[in-house]
Amino acid sequence: MDAKTTRNGRGRLRRDLINPRDAYSREGFRLKGSGPWIEAGICPFHDDHKPSFRVNLETGRGRCMSCGWSGDLVAFVMQRHGLNFRQAAEHLGAWEDLSGFSPATVSTATSPRARQGGRP
Ligand SMILES: [Zn+2]
Repeated sequence: MDAKTTRNGRGRLRRDLINPRDAYSREGFRLKGSGPWIEAGICPFHDDHKPSFRVNLETGRGRCMSCGWSGDLVAFVMQRHGLNFRQAAEHLGAWEDLSGFSPATVSTATSPRARQGGRP
């Protein structure tokens, strides 16, 4: 599972701001060795007893060798914490908010563009 959406009407994901090693470390994994693919630890998506979860330190992809879960960091955070795409990007410190940079010129009452951007 990949989170392919990289932008919506109010902001976008900045994948370049994500450091996979830091991000997975903050999720509680103890990452040893150098990549790209390294063993990260217990898979959070099934009842794991051995360290089945591998991550790619270059791309941020994760993969479980036991239950078969596979996805990128955004998908990982979305599923693990029950977040939507934007919340996951914010959790990763990689959300660029584009909604507030010209508030004076955007009227939410009359701008069709603003209404389009209102989808979650
Ligand atoms: Zn698993």
